[in-house]
Amino acid sequence: MTGQGVAGETRMLIDGRLVAAASGATFDNINPATEEVLGHVADAGAVDMDRAIAAARRAFDHTDWSTNRAFRRHCLEQLQEALESERELLRAELVAEVGTPVAVTYMAQLEWPLEEGLLWPAKEIEQFAWERELPSSTLAGMNSRRLVWKEAVGVVGAILPWNYPFEVMISKLGPIVATGNTVVIKPAPDTPWNATRIGRLIAERTDIPAGVVNIVTSTDHLLGEQLTVDPRVDLISFTGSTATGQRIMEKGAATLKRVFLELGGKSAAIILDDADFATVVPAGMSVCMHAGQGCAMQTRMLLPRSRYDEGVELITAAMQNVPWGDPTDPANLMGPLISARQRDRVTGLIRTGIDEGAELVVGGAERPAGRERGFFVEPTLFIGVDNSMTIAQEEIFGPVLTVIPYEDDEDAVRIANDSKYGLAGAIHSASTERGMAMARRIRTGSLAVNASLWYGADSPYGGYKNSGIGRQNGIEGFEQYLETKAISVPLV
Ligand code: NAD
Repeated sequence: MTGQGVAGETRMLIDGRLVAAASGATFDNINPATEEVLGHVADAGAVDMDRAIAAARRAFDHTDWSTNRAFRRHCLEQLQEALESERELLRAELVAEVGTPVAVTYMAQLEWPLEEGLLWPAKEIEQFAWERELPSSTLAGMNSRRLVWKEAVGVVGAILPWNYPFEVMISKLGPIVATGNTVVIKPAPDTPWNATRIGRLIAERTDIPAGVVNIVTSTDHLLGEQLTVDPRVDLISFTGSTATGQRIMEKGAATLKRVFLELGGKSAAIILDDADFATVVPAGMSVCMHAGQGCAMQTRMLLPRSRYDEGVELITAAMQNVPWGDPTDPANLMGPLISARQRDRVTGLIRTGIDEGAELVVGGAERPAGRERGFFVEPTLFIGVDNSMTIAQEEIFGPVLTVIPYEDDEDAVRIANDSKYGLAGAIHSASTERGMAMARRIRTGSLAVNASLWYGADSPYGGYKNSGIGRQNGIEGFEQYLETKAISVPLV
């Protein structure tokens, strides 16, 4: 499992050209499953970021990009075709640099966003109500015809995470391009190649004009901050940790940046006492998918006290049998964490769980046996967790499930909402009506009742509370990249 044969694009896309960093610096791209160096990529500095921002500003201010809708649709369709032609190369690259199990690339890591992440907003270009007419008015002796126009915000700074890098990039790029903005994208340093590949495809296979999309790779997180403080950037679209999201808001305030923030979560799966436990409870091990590196993971399982022992037995068996290891093996659900830093963070939180008195029943070793290389952490299950414990409150971003008992439905709602986060969750019940009634009381941006999935390019995704501001995807996500202008002309 070396990721051999994966040869990534080393150059960035700035002002329509594939370029190295001005300094000539590069950094290594590491395979997290083997710790081997896959290759390298440009390590941009402030001067490169400055050029990218200038190019995006120029493309927005001095071309017809923001108003030429038919051309934008054409460009998105070209990019879709180009991406599809390199689908299998992308898959291998994602497995190698992200450490994602290949099975997950058939879901949100690649196939789902590839299917409609660009094409849904491209179609929306034709369908969206770019203009609407208000009733005419007579004020101050003037008869006015009144209109509302929707226009691109301007230059977007898009800052990406490493856990689902392609999915997040496509979910930003589609609506940003469809709405007529220009963009500077800064991928996470851990996963640069899928982004530089898209940069190369844009340069070589599409008519997207120079400066409209810029992709700047760097080990320096402060290049992200450069985007948030630069007055030429109008909006920051960020996916990542809550702490960084807060800093972006704070730093962006000086130039009154519009911000879209998709942040962390600590979502609850509520298993009601009438649920079919044998089916529903074992599925809780899906918290281990991609080693738990997903913001919408249901990392708190709420079990009714009346059926607690039965539930614990089922989830223990499921967590003991999670297929994990080599991400290139299609049978595996989880591979490694992205980096040594993340592994140490996760094992540190596991230690905190033990110290605070939670009962560890599966996993929990500092280093899994027989895994000298790779940033692996075992599937880990804590039971008897109190919702006030650190492991029930903090986003762990690892394969760790906490099981929390509750007394009655009222108590389940209280525990689920007792979180600074509000991203996702699930409710399982024999009665869909009972589940839906409870869903109205849960303070999260998305929720699945029984075996169902809200995901889609047309489905608004984002968080309540500390899980973020704004929505990605759907009409809400599309509009987020638009300004609103009220227009009046004399009524004739
Ligand atoms: P992070 O939020 O620090 O990094 C995400 C992106 O933000 C990267 O591209 C990074 O370069 C950039 N960035 C960092 N500091 C910045 C700044 N001051 N201004 C602008 N951009 C900046 O996340 P991380 O440190 O890689 O991971 C830490 C934790 O974040 C994880 O353990 C997890 O809990 C959470 N996380 C959440 C998501 C999510 O989808 N919600 C994704 C990744 C990580």
